Amino acid sequence: MTGKYIAMLIMVAIVTLGVIPSTFADEVVVYSARKEHLIKPLFDLYTKETGTKVRYITGNAGALMQRIKAEGSRTRADILLTVDAGNLWHAADEGLFQPVKSRVLEKNIPSHLRDPGNRWFGLSVRARTIAYNTDRVSPEELSTYEDLGSPKWKGRLILRTSKKVYNQSLTAMLIVEHGLEKTEDIIRSWVHNLSTEPFSSDTKVLESIAAGQGDVGIINTYYFGRLMKKKPGLPLALFWPDQDGNGVHVNISGAGVTTHARHRGKAMKLLEWLSTPAAQTIFADSNMEYPVHSDAKLHSIVKSWGSFRENLINVSRGGELQAEAIRLMDRAGYR
Ligand code: FE
Repeated sequence: MTGKYIAMLIMVAIVTLGVIPSTFADEVVVYSARKEHLIKPLFDLYTKETGTKVRYITGNAGALMQRIKAEGSRTRADILLTVDAGNLWHAADEGLFQPVKSRVLEKNIPSHLRDPGNRWFGLSVRARTIAYNTDRVSPEELSTYEDLGSPKWKGRLILRTSKKVYNQSLTAMLIVEHGLEKTEDIIRSWVHNLSTEPFSSDTKVLESIAAGQGDVGIINTYYFGRLMKKKPGLPLALFWPDQDGNGVHVNISGAGVTTHARHRGKAMKLLEWLSTPAAQTIFADSNMEYPVHSDAKLHSIVKSWGSFRENLINVSRGGELQAEAIRLMDRAGYR
């Protein structure tokens, strides 16, 4: 048999079995809930450095998870990349990830920013912190997340909807710190202080604080970065709460290797590379987030916000307690 003939037979077998030929190629496939402009430069660089092609599709986190689930063992995804530990926890809970034992990932990523079961790993950090109107509030008036429920903020607080996973994770973390009962009191006191109905996005929260519709709110840092880059004159600033207590609440974007990954080893290599200082600098930079690796450089704008002490509770608790958090927010009247 000639080589050509054998190759043809293999091709026939591949088509018959429904195996995608590119399984044999030097590539890794990523399903990404992060937008293309945030990941493409990194993946291009990875291909340049290693020769491994990174193929990706982007989409909504929930839709990508559904897709991987529906595809089962036939999925093309080697890696699922998404935001918020709540989402990553769900993907793991649905059995979409396999554990990965990697000394590189364990060394590069602090333990509170990855799954204790090694199924997913944080690749960037966003702080969910307080933003305030600099014309109407002085930072000395601010202190903790709980304090946003005190009478002095009556009619001055602005929040994003409780439907957003960011607020569900934040509430879950408050449950870890304070217990159910006290957290419900905190959330109820926030609702009591709202100046207007919760908004659909962090950017709207910030814009409305700047416009004086309220004076304080809770947002992810990169939204502040994006808005201030566009409109530097806005009377807004960040405040780092709980610096004498448990620290600022952080969340992650992160990724894991899928259960049915066809390129398991290559997927692991890509995750390890993404955790290195050089890749971390680019990854965090692209969305004005914080790198997980302490040797990576901060974006100049991010650096200008100053340093803060972060809460060291494992971010996976945000997922574990998500259902509890949603029920609690509902009881407290947070819509
Ligand atoms: Fe976001």
